[in-house]
Amino acid sequence: MSERCVSVGVPVPGLGRLTYRVPDHLPWPVRGARVSVPLGSRVVTGCVIEAPVLPPESGMLKDVVEVLDQDAFLPESVVALALWVADYYAAGPGDALLNAMPPKARKGEATSFRRVSIAEWVEHLASRGAGPGDDAGAQAPALRGDKQRAAAALLKSTPEGMPLSELRKAGVGLSTVRTLERAGLVRIREDIVERDPFEAVGGTDRSMWTLEGTTPAGRELTPEQAHAYRHMEEAVLAGQFKTMLLQGVTGSGKTELYLRLADLVLQRGRRVLVLVPEIALTPAVAGLFRARFGRRVTIQHSGLSDGERHDQWHRIRRGDVEVVIGTRSAVFAPMEHLGLIIVDEEHDQAYKQEETPRYHGRDVAVVRGRMAGAVVVLGSATPSLESASNAAAGRYGHLTLTQRVWNRPLAEVRLVDMRQEFATHGADVMISQTLWDALELRLSRGEQSMILLNRRGFATVVFCRQCAATLECPHCSVTLTFHRAMRKVRCHYCNYASVIPKACGTCGGEFLEQSGFGTERVEAEVRARFPGARITRVDRDTIRRRGAIANVLNAVTRGDVDILVGTQMIAKGHDFPSVTLVGVVSADVGLGVSDFRAAERTFQLLTQVVGRAGRGDMPGEAIVQTLYPEHYSVKAAAAQDYAAFYTQEIDFRLRMHYPPTIGLINVVVRGTSLGKALDDAHALASLTKQAGPRATVLGPAPAPMSKIKDEYRAQFFLKGTHRRAMRDAIERALEQRPELRRKTVVDVDPYSTS
Ligand code: ADP
Ligand code: ZN
Repeated sequence: MSERCVSVGVPVPGLGRLTYRVPDHLPWPVRGARVSVPLGSRVVTGCVIEAPVLPPESGMLKDVVEVLDQDAFLPESVVALALWVADYYAAGPGDALLNAMPPKARKGEATSFRRVSIAEWVEHLASRGAGPGDDAGAQAPALRGDKQRAAAALLKSTPEGMPLSELRKAGVGLSTVRTLERAGLVRIREDIVERDPFEAVGGTDRSMWTLEGTTPAGRELTPEQAHAYRHMEEAVLAGQFKTMLLQGVTGSGKTELYLRLADLVLQRGRRVLVLVPEIALTPAVAGLFRARFGRRVTIQHSGLSDGERHDQWHRIRRGDVEVVIGTRSAVFAPMEHLGLIIVDEEHDQAYKQEETPRYHGRDVAVVRGRMAGAVVVLGSATPSLESASNAAAGRYGHLTLTQRVWNRPLAEVRLVDMRQEFATHGADVMISQTLWDALELRLSRGEQSMILLNRRGFATVVFCRQCAATLECPHCSVTLTFHRAMRKVRCHYCNYASVIPKACGTCGGEFLEQSGFGTERVEAEVRARFPGARITRVDRDTIRRRGAIANVLNAVTRGDVDILVGTQMIAKGHDFPSVTLVGVVSADVGLGVSDFRAAERTFQLLTQVVGRAGRGDMPGEAIVQTLYPEHYSVKAAAAQDYAAFYTQEIDFRLRMHYPPTIGLINVVVRGTSLGKALDDAHALASLTKQAGPRATVLGPAPAPMSKIKDEYRAQFFLKGTHRRAMRDAIERALEQRPELRRKTVVDVDPYSTS
């Protein structure tokens, strides 16, 4: 048999490599190239994993329909990385490979550069040797009218020609250009240009990319910074893979170290990849890199269209870019010669992708660093337990910055016990007297405050006074949140919305009451208390529009906001020098959740938000309201004592057998009823057990969110130290029940288990 066959990954979760025949009339595709292949009744874009391969012994072979790329679309380094992801995270290889491509490429589109019409003065063409002939200048007809003369002046001054859109802006319309074209004075050519990604930001948002003079090169490092830098420098000079945890309190100058290190790596001719959790929320890091390295940097942000992303991707692929800054998907940027990978705020949960392939950007970054022989720096004030335990075990280098620059003190934190507040002022107190007083003081001094409540909406529960039934989402197992501005109750999982019914659906009672509060209610109370103050709220309800968050952040920086109310969005790495007070309305929002990371998340959020206070010349203060002032995550955050938190938390994880002390895989099975989901989960769990997972299988049980968007969910866990054996056992089980594949989600190293 001399059939030409290739193995291809197609974007179907969990599906392995497929073999296709390459018909004689098609070119031979290489590994990493895209091909169109038939799959069932569809034709999909896949990626070649191996060529050639032997044809399978049995079964009909289908033909590749089209070879989309002459050369590899994905560079070998990214193919290898994606295949590692597919294997480790139990996703299909096609899923992981296509995930590493820009969205448009997944649909099989080639390029999407913008076409522009450019007008050129013909004499320029002649002088470049590309003109119509010697006599073009000699017979030039006279120019008529001001418009033609203006056009001529503009075009004569731009030898490369001018886009028609630019000419129009300068007052020269299309008809004038066409007239000149007919007279042989102007030629119009079609050009393909790449979009400048910074253009897309537009308007006032643009300022976020052009922070000026914020990092004068050559300023002196603090002794702690210098010490940490020496170690990182050494690693870079060694030119080998090494991972380092840079643990520095908020405001200790980690970003400055990233910039210097990047500079060093670039000087040595290698490239730099910087991962950030969310660019819109923390534009400062991206802006600083842009300010320092200019056009050698490309920044990937959510404001980019698919087309812009595509252009950028090709610029990187061609090697035109030396520094890439982006969110988790940028870990697959098609860069060669990587010398340094920085993962800023490495603890942030945004690094975990919650759809297949369910990879963790930080962990993939470390693997990429190993494959590329690059230095990996993980930076955080509140490292994940994973990274901290790796550092403690000596697998990562560990560098610490314990002081803020200029020895600015960390904010002083006061805990307010809300149980006492309720005892004296009643149970519906939202903001304590202590916090009101502190806010008033800041207003009187013209300083800024931030108030955090990590829960949006006005009221979190609507219930019947007669039978106590709550309003629940008809599609999900959660209560609906009341949003006053919309006059509707809304589901935060599926977006279902409705007006509050006139009567209780259970008993017909007519008195529906609200309880619980979110950011919308906090904003309303603060406004009522301080009518003259400039108050802004930031949460997913107010920040829907692209660019809206940048406008708010800029307004705070300019001093146009007195009090900023918001969810965790306001806790990220912002550097607002005039914020001197941070209030936390309820530190406990995340603690009631049945999730092994509840304490870690609470500690991180509180420490980060407290770190927003006192970053300028004035000292900061934080007031944290809580029902559990003795809880170790609240106490450690108040003391901003990472070590104390880590010691207690790692002990809890050890005792309870939770990551990072053990490997965890979560298997969720969906069904049209909870009974069906549970039955299937039972079947899969026992097949998994039979397959010898070398791990404990726990469950199945209904997932904490047992119904989302009309789908019921049951789950079981595998806990063990042999991830390979655990994944293989699940794979064996799914091979025996292939019809369950599409209902099953396998989450390796799950971030959340609710
Ligand atoms: P982090 O990222 O650790 O929270 P930043 O890098 O934002 O801290 O630094 C906090 C502030 O200190 C920034 O305004 C930064 O420009 C400034 N800074 C950093 N290093 C130095 C230094 N060596 N000398 C003076 N200012 C510095
Ligand atoms: Zn819902």
